[in-house]
Amino acid sequence: MSTQTQPKQSMIQGMTPATPIPASSSTTIMPAQELSQTSPQRQSQTQSQKNQEGPQGQDGQEGKDPNYQQCVRCVMDTTDPEIHFNKDGVCSHCQEFDRYANTIWSPDQKGAALLESMAAKIRAYGKNKEYDCIVGMSGGVDSSYLLYLAVRVMKLRPLAVHVDAGWNSELAVRNIENLCKGLNVELFTHVVDWEEMRDLQLAYLKSGVPNQDVPQDHIFFSRLYEFAIKNDIKYVLSGANHATESVLPKAWGYNAADCRQIKAIHKLFGTRPLEQFLMTGLFKTYLYYPYVKRMKLVRPLDLINYNKAEGIEFLANEFDWVYYGGKHFESRWTRFFQSYYLPKKFGYDKRLAHLSSLILSGQTTREDALKELAKLPYNESTLANDLEYIAKKLWISVEELEAFVAAPNRRHEDYPSNMAFEEFLRFVKRSLQKLGIRL
Ligand SMILES: [Zn+2]
Repeated sequence: MSTQTQPKQSMIQGMTPATPIPASSSTTIMPAQELSQTSPQRQSQTQSQKNQEGPQGQDGQEGKDPNYQQCVRCVMDTTDPEIHFNKDGVCSHCQEFDRYANTIWSPDQKGAALLESMAAKIRAYGKNKEYDCIVGMSGGVDSSYLLYLAVRVMKLRPLAVHVDAGWNSELAVRNIENLCKGLNVELFTHVVDWEEMRDLQLAYLKSGVPNQDVPQDHIFFSRLYEFAIKNDIKYVLSGANHATESVLPKAWGYNAADCRQIKAIHKLFGTRPLEQFLMTGLFKTYLYYPYVKRMKLVRPLDLINYNKAEGIEFLANEFDWVYYGGKHFESRWTRFFQSYYLPKKFGYDKRLAHLSSLILSGQTTREDALKELAKLPYNESTLANDLEYIAKKLWISVEELEAFVAAPNRRHEDYPSNMAFEEFLRFVKRSLQKLGIRL
């Protein structure tokens, strides 16, 4: 055991002005062409791996897109249909990082001061209350390190909430328990009704849309905010951070807050009513929580020099915390979805975005990232276990599960949605902010 009691000082210095509510992924729609190009028969390689093989591949034509391009600075490529490049070959994600990073991310003295004033504000708010803030725990490195930061550095009294949607790895559960015990934080766990979750999860598989994490993300968010309201807590601490998540291609995701789409997909493919599955719509997300309930979402990790590898090492030494091997792999479902379903069915390899974020924040090199990408996105034996586990849990066979991956691809816009309403809400929010009404 290490005797280390503080993470490297370099980590704790620095953040972003409180970002308003939506925690959730991205909002964008999958352009039609991109989807039709992605073959369900994609074999073990992702598009990006195929294209990286270069001309020595002799017949070289097979699977190689003549328009393929990869950023010369990060590793994002044209599997993001919205990417564009400047004349030097630097991609739009890198350019955006350069433009906005210093308005969001302060891993320096300025961040340290902002972190302290944020903490003071939250502590003052929480005086005479049982808790002064709430933290949603997934068991992953970001939320785990955030909880440590909140308690030991910011001196806050958080309520930790974990939503068990049925896909927790044992490691994630143990990590959360060890951490809460070590930090003396009260933990509330909400266990999702599995019959309903199973039905919704299967409905999403049948729908063939890219973002299969919507049911899980939605219920995490809904229950967390419900806990906050119930316990009269205004501050929600988010583990989202620019250091490891600055690159998030919008076209690869879909807003998990769009409950109109959740209801529509479930109506088409579900087999039983959703009575316990708490839905939180866009109105609540964009306007009710931030402006009526005056809730504030803050991102403390943006105010320190947050380094993923150092965070993992520190948590392991201090709290017997164990790394589970990949971004968001604390959920077995997310591991299947990100490392197999998405790359195999749609050609979207989320490692590109994650590694690009780490390159931009100086936590890895492009060379090492390319080496990592040369490997398959999943580990063969883990995948076999996961497929079996997931199929069994969904009461289907592994063949049926594979058939969902091979079925025709669909877009989120193929189903009813609140995309237009969301655009409107964003407009309203921007207008409110222009008038000085903001979080
Ligand atoms: Zn780039």
